[in-house]
Amino acid sequence: MKKAYNFNAGPCVLPKAAIDSAIEALKDFKGTGMSVIEVSHRSKEWDAVMDECRSLWKELLNIPDTHEVLFLGGGASMQFLYVPMNFLENKGAYLETGVWAKKALKEAKGLGNAVCVASSADKVYNYIPKGFEIPADADYFHITTNNTIYGTEIREDLDSPVPLIADMSSDIMSRPVDVSKYALIYGGAQKNVGPAGVAFAIVRKDALGKVSRYIPTMLDYRTHIDGLSMFNTPPVFSIYVMTETLRWLKGIGGVEAINKINVQKAQMLYDEIDRNSLFVGTAAKEDRSIMNVCFVPAPGKENLQDEFLEFAKGRGMVGIKGHRSVGGFRASIYNACPVEAVEALIACMQDFEKLHK
Ligand SMILES: *Cc1c(COP(=O)(O)O)cnc(C)c1O
Repeated sequence: MKKAYNFNAGPCVLPKAAIDSAIEALKDFKGTGMSVIEVSHRSKEWDAVMDECRSLWKELLNIPDTHEVLFLGGGASMQFLYVPMNFLENKGAYLETGVWAKKALKEAKGLGNAVCVASSADKVYNYIPKGFEIPADADYFHITTNNTIYGTEIREDLDSPVPLIADMSSDIMSRPVDVSKYALIYGGAQKNVGPAGVAFAIVRKDALGKVSRYIPTMLDYRTHIDGLSMFNTPPVFSIYVMTETLRWLKGIGGVEAINKINVQKAQMLYDEIDRNSLFVGTAAKEDRSIMNVCFVPAPGKENLQDEFLEFAKGRGMVGIKGHRSVGGFRASIYNACPVEAVEALIACMQDFEKLHK
């Protein structure tokens, strides 16, 4: 099989163990003689998968009993709408750290009063705004912890005077999180915990039921808490692969263990970017993401952009082209991206530099 160093931003690299197990389950699910996509989602075999998935989430992230974890369709983008539907009464407050944050804010504005507390749009979102004040009269404060496109990240759990809501699509399970500080954590699975097709939402139960609007059944978190994420047919295959991905994560020591590896991988790559005369990092150093590493050709070397992409491609690198809105390069080094892939990319950057000495 062809070897690819997969740096795709999402969908992206998943643990081989999860893929292998998915292949088996597609052929025969737990000895039922049926594929995992053929069994009833009301069967006891399927129930066991849902239970395992929920308990893995709770165990790996240390989710307290005050919160429930839900698996939903519609991706993170649908959660942009769930948030104001379930939490916005008088005012929603948003930190605008990228286009995903902006899209989340747009949905809130469509339903009511929502304000942007601070934005880093002035510098193409290459930093996290500091020193802003969270309005004490807001119903909630919404942040995007990892800005996938720009490679910036809020790596600590903020103190907020109002319920804190976080889009953690691209850094969930990459570091330990104090879930008790959040009213809601949500994201699409396809960046760190599974394939596309399922979103997760970790919601504090007593934060719900505070808005006066009618909430459409499918957009009401309480529907899915009551229905154990099976009010309607869940995305069974995506949930299956997510369960296997979390099982892998638990097997290698959980979130704390992976965090150490993630920090190490990111450090290695940033060190090379800072050392290499042909490249510069784009994100403010203190806000650098450990999941998405963004860089561009050094000043005066812009003409090497396409050449490096070709060179890297020839060495098996996939997905290192920066997002179309920012250009340059982006290496997404999620949990399942092995250290060897980062080492291969570094070697590739070093050899490219030698070529141009
Ligand atoms: C990818 C991404 C999204 C969008 O996810 P979908 O599941 O495709 O809707 C939202 N927020 C962040 C931070 C992302 O990285």
